[in-house]
Amino acid sequence: MRKLVSIVIPAYNEADNIFVIIENIKTVFKTIDYDFEVILVDDGSSDSTLKRVKEVVEVSSNIYFLEFSKNFGHQLAVKAGMDHAFGDCVISMDCDLQHPPELIPEMLAKWEEGFEVVYTIRAEDKSLSKAKRSSSNIFYKTLNWLSDIDLEPGSADFRLLDQKVVNVFRNFQENEPFLRGLVKWLGFNQYAIKYMPAERFSGKSKYTVKKMMHLALHGVTSFSIKPLYTAVYLGFIFSIASILYIPYVLYAFIYGVEVSGWASTIMTIVFFGGLQLIILGIIGIYVGKMFMQGKNRPNYIVRSTNLKVNGTA
Ligand code: UDP
Ligand code: MG
Repeated sequence: MRKLVSIVIPAYNEADNIFVIIENIKTVFKTIDYDFEVILVDDGSSDSTLKRVKEVVEVSSNIYFLEFSKNFGHQLAVKAGMDHAFGDCVISMDCDLQHPPELIPEMLAKWEEGFEVVYTIRAEDKSLSKAKRSSSNIFYKTLNWLSDIDLEPGSADFRLLDQKVVNVFRNFQENEPFLRGLVKWLGFNQYAIKYMPAERFSGKSKYTVKKMMHLALHGVTSFSIKPLYTAVYLGFIFSIASILYIPYVLYAFIYGVEVSGWASTIMTIVFFGGLQLIILGIIGIYVGKMFMQGKNRPNYIVRSTNLKVNGTA
């Protein structure tokens, strides 16, 4: 019996990309001996994405869609697709053709060799803006340093997961999953393929600097409490330094040495004010996460679908 491959595609305002990506996937599957299904997840788009999605669903028997009730974000859209995929393996890829469907046969070949996770790494791409490349490098370096996982720079959300791994994921109830990190954390036999990302086919990137900043902070704080330890160590360092400074202050006081006060005082206040805010913020993020998770709300809400499922997860 032919194996079934599920392809999960999150789409947020990608109206002009839907037809093309589906066509490309169909072309690729004509060359290999697998059945496939596509699950398109409309993440609360405000353009005509849903209309286009329904048009392709109408004319095919193996294309499904999930419509979210609002924008829940890329990671949850992928998670929702995986929750509803029936395939022997699930491949997640972006809608904008930056993840080349031509790589699918190679991924499947590695899967057949026994790898349960086949993930991809963006090769250094000169066409990406310098800011994006270096921000992505800084992102991974900081993430690895501050957390206990080891992500390669350029890791993408273009990956194949064996059904076994997908089943593990279904039980995850994190309200803001950071899939790249989670997949690494899971273990299993993993294999990395390097690929050359293409230009975005149409539309523009939804990852603004603000969103990337959020992803970075979230990535670190959802994997380790190392930032809290770092705060404590910093506290120690500054306490010791200030204790060492006390004799000098006493000496200056007793012998009436004149120290010009304004600049040093303001500098200290501003510096420690900032440091304290950062550390309070870090603690706040952890508390906030506990609050959000504690409410046990559904992670995403499905407004409509042509799959036979209930609406939330
Ligand atoms: N996406 C989504 N919800 C969002 C933002 C993005 O489903 O809130 C989808 C988007 O449609 C695309 C994928 O996630 O298929 C990656 O987004 P994008 O191409 O904007 O990110 P980049 O490639 O620039 O990192
Ligand atoms: Mg993209």
